[in-house]
Amino acid sequence: MELERFELGATHYKESDLKEGKLLSLPWTPNLKYAWDNGVAIGRYLAELKEGRIIARKCNKCRRIMLPPRMFCEMCWRPTDEWVYVKDTGRVNTYSVCYVNWDASRIKKGEKPHLPAVIEIDGASPGMGILHLLGEVEPEDIKIGMWVRAVWKKPEEREGAITDILYFKPVRR
Ligand SMILES: [Zn+2]
Repeated sequence: MELERFELGATHYKESDLKEGKLLSLPWTPNLKYAWDNGVAIGRYLAELKEGRIIARKCNKCRRIMLPPRMFCEMCWRPTDEWVYVKDTGRVNTYSVCYVNWDASRIKKGEKPHLPAVIEIDGASPGMGILHLLGEVEPEDIKIGMWVRAVWKKPEEREGAITDILYFKPVRR
């Protein structure tokens, strides 16, 4: 029913309209409400982030400590066995210097680029880590393998999300 309204209300553009940069518009404002379940592993992971801790899951057969945690080991084809706290430090596995925003718009002139990176977290198995942002560092100073530490939001501002970590900043070792 909603889909039908969507189709009836849609504006159809000609090829020339698209070339001129006209975007699809709808005369209807959707009222979208939804709920989801994070599942056991990610639910606990997010709850621990709210407390300023990072938790992983261990498989006692292959001995891997997996992050983000999961309840099933895809290598051993069996359930994982225990929760393991890992540190909030790690090393840069890979990174990017990004001049576009999440919506693909270009960042404003003079604004610093986003620095997404994969951080291999201390205490988790090699290759296990978090996709996050780097901060307090200039792009030209980032090195693969450099040590970093999580910079957390204040406890009262955390909400049980990966953004409870603001970014990872370089640390000396
Ligand atoms: Zn395993």
